[in-house]
Order: sequence, then C-alpha cells, then structure tokens
Amino acid sequence: MTTSVMWFRGDLRLIDQPALREAVAAGPDGVVPLYVLDDRLWGRGAGVRTAYLSRLLSEFDERIGGLHVVHGPPEREVPRVAHAAGADSVHVSASFTPYGTSRDDRVEKALDVPLVRTGSAYAVSPGRVVKGDGEGYRVFTPFYKGWLDHGWRDPAPAVRDVPWLRPEGRTHRIPEAGVPEDVTLPPIGERAAREHWRRWLEDHVTDYADERDHPGLDTTSRMSVHLKWGSIHPRTMLADLAPLGSDGAAAYRRELAFREFYADILHQRPDSAFGYYDRRFEHLQYDEPADDLEAWKRGETGFPIVDAGMRQLLAEGWMHNRVRMIVASFLVKDLHLEWTHGAAHFLDRLVDADLASNQHGWQWVAGCGTDASPFFRVFNPVTQSKKFDPDGAYIRRWVPELAGVSAPAVHEPWTMADPPQDYPAPLVDHAEERREALRRFEALRRFE
Ligand code: FAD
Repeated sequence: MTTSVMWFRGDLRLIDQPALREAVAAGPDGVVPLYVLDDRLWGRGAGVRTAYLSRLLSEFDERIGGLHVVHGPPEREVPRVAHAAGADSVHVSASFTPYGTSRDDRVEKALDVPLVRTGSAYAVSPGRVVKGDGEGYRVFTPFYKGWLDHGWRDPAPAVRDVPWLRPEGRTHRIPEAGVPEDVTLPPIGERAAREHWRRWLEDHVTDYADERDHPGLDTTSRMSVHLKWGSIHPRTMLADLAPLGSDGAAAYRRELAFREFYADILHQRPDSAFGYYDRRFEHLQYDEPADDLEAWKRGETGFPIVDAGMRQLLAEGWMHNRVRMIVASFLVKDLHLEWTHGAAHFLDRLVDADLASNQHGWQWVAGCGTDASPFFRVFNPVTQSKKFDPDGAYIRRWVPELAGVSAPAVHEPWTMADPPQDYPAPLVDHAEERREALRRFEALRRFE
C-alpha cells in the first residue's frame, strides 16, 4: 500500500490544485484529506471569518464525502495522522506568510516522511520574480513587468476519482460558528466561486477599468474572498482573462499582480507584517488611540464616505478598495493614529483578510510602505466622495441617516441649513488636521 496525506489549508478546492495531483500520484492506494484546526489561526477575527471558514469546511467535507479534521498544533497533529495512516508523504501548497513558513518548517522536522510543497496560492510564487542582481523588487511597475515576463503555468486539470482514505478513529467535529447578527456572508465554496467568477466576467470585466473606482456601482469582482480561501486559483482566472482583449481584462490582471507583489514584499521582509516597511516612520509623532478610534470603527466620524465604508465592513466583512484607501488615510492623517490600529481592525473584520495585501495596503496609504503613496498626499474625504461616489448612492446605501439627502449635500451634510439630527457632526476639521499631519511629517526629515 502506498498512501499519502493531503493537508489542506487555504486551498480547499479540487480544480487547479497541483498539490492534490502530487498527493494522488504519490499515494495511489489512498489519500487522507486532512484539515488541522490550529488555534493560532482558527477562531481569529470578530467571528465573521470563523463563520465563513466553518461553512466552507462543511461544504468541502460534504463534497468529498468526509474531511479528516483534527485539532491541535500542526507539528503534533500532522505527523500523528501520517503515522497512523502509514502515509509515505504529506502534501501541501506552499505557504509564504511568516507564520505559515515557520509552521511548515516545524512540521517538516517533526515528520519522518517527506513534506512535499507543490505550488502556492499565487500564479508566480513569492521570491521568483527578481531583478538582474537576484534581489526582489521594491516598486510595483517593474515587478509587474518582471511578473508578466516570468509567466505562469496553465491551470492544472481537475483531479478526478481521488482514492480518499479515511483513517480509523474519530474525526474532530467541524465547529459551528454562528454568523454575527446583521452580517451577510459571501457565497461559499469552489463551485460558488467559479460560478460567481464566470458571471462577473460576462457582466462586468469589459467595463472594469472605468468602473472599478466607483463604490456606488459595486461592480468590482468581489473575488478577494475566494482567493483568500483558495476556492479558486489566480492561474485559473488569468487563463480566463488571457483571450479577452479589453482594457478591463488588462486592468484586472494588473490588480491580481498587486496581490502577488505584496506577497512577494512580505516574503522579502517578513518584519513588515507588523512593523514599518520604511522604518523612518517609527519616528513620526502619533496620537494614542482614544474615543476617535472607536468612532472610526463604528462608522460615526461625521464624514459620510468614511462612515459608509466602515459600516459596510461591519455588515459584509468586505469594503470597496477605493473606500479602504479613504478610511485608511482618515485614520492615519486626520486622526494621527498608527496604521497598525486600523490594519488590526481590518484583519479582525474582513472575510478576505490577507496579511500581505492588508498590511501593505495600509502601509501604502500611510506613506511608509513600498512604492508608497507619499505621506504628503492626504486624501480629502469630501473631494474623494464627490469624485468617486458623485450621486452619493454608496453613502445612502450604508448611512441610513442620510438616505433622504441628495448630492452634493450628502458628501458634506454639515453644510446643510438643517442637517439630519441623528447623524454625527464631523469629528475633526479636515483642513486643520491635514496641516497638522504635514507638520509632523516635516519633522521626520531629519531622519532621512
Ligand atoms: P477587484 O477590484 O475585483 O480586484 C480583483 C482582485 O485583485 C482582488 O480580488 C484582489 O485579489 C486583487 N486586488 C485588487 N486590488 C488590490 C490591491 N490594492 N492590493 C492587493 N490586491 C488587490 N485585499 C485583500 O484581498 N485582503 C485584504 O485584507 C486587503 N486589505 C486592504 C487594506 C487596505 C487599506 C487597502 C487599501 C487595500 C486592501 N486590499 C485587501 C486590496 C483591495 O482593497 C481588495 O483586494 C479589493 O477591494 C477586493 O475586492 P474585489 O475582489 O472586488 O477587487
């Protein structure tokens, strides 16, 4: 008997799944479908992500007729399961987060059979796109060119008739996690992801370049959740985009490259997950978080576009990209708080929470990231709102107090003769805080 273990993590799918193909090739007599509930990751976040993962696991469990779920530290559980099943190898898609890499190294050491890493969650795995001198890129545009030149494999065909092997002994029950009140979860699982993607391609990809910055239209793909959980591989999406000649398809490919760029940057600089990519910014003068951080989290800053975004995050576990930038700029440059406070709240609430994209999205806005938006570029929440949500549709969708207010007043209700009483007054004077942010930034120059 030659058997193997397929240890699923953020890749619960059967199509375009090279690690599973390897597991089947290495274990023709049986493949144990393993999932480890790891306390370092399971149950993190405000509940919505756990609720999503719990349903995703149940869906996959049903689909393959039984996922072998265990609970405990992977360096203990994976060798135990491999040993009990008499497996000759354990297969994974490579992980590139700081925790994922160290976890896999520990598991590899604890195993007495090989841990085989095949593929990753990226079309081009971190560390592969390098400059002539072998160093990684720090700026997106040359990375993008290098990434396109590097290219990627075709999607791997679906693995059919896997000889699933269920080891003796009890499988840990998939913990049920209730969906927090008033939260709508996105579609779940591989089939839902592929169907959603196909429909989005038909309906929206052509206009993506023109529409992607307009939260009121709500026509971005919302594929981030499926990419996060691995219900679809970006290679599949890139193959579907390849024959399309539209600007929209090209713009979308570029956004997928952004996800890969940030993963590459985090791989180059694991310390940038929670520390400043540009260390000068450790010396910037920040305020201590107080009630203003809580008002920001609740969506009660009195700036409609900021509040709409923060309330969408609470209701859907997702926020439109343009609005992510606006609310992030507000936290760092209007409230003068460290980016880490906002990033932590996002990681807590987002169903698509991705360490690389989130921490580097935040650092980009905060001016301390790679290829960063310069610190002195301070987003004006009113100007941004008028430009990207001109008729106020997005604001009215998420801020019911302003449902009866039309544009342009909906962008700055404090200018109305009789503003709605139940909507908060602005927390800060933006012009004043902008000057204050620039003053603090000037003081940084001595660290150059
Ligand atoms: P689409 O516009 O349809 O884009 C398609 C795909 O391209 C996305 O699904 C995503 O995988 C990728 N993409 C698009 N924009 C970016 C970007 N700026 N950076 C990296 N990848 C991108 N994305 C996450 O997946 N998880 C996060 O935790 C996350 N946190 C962010 C925090 C901040 C402060 C900012 C500014 C951006 C963050 N992003 C994050 C990036 C981006 O906002 C989301 O990927 C996007 O809004 C997801 O919606 P969509 O799938 O409809 O995007």
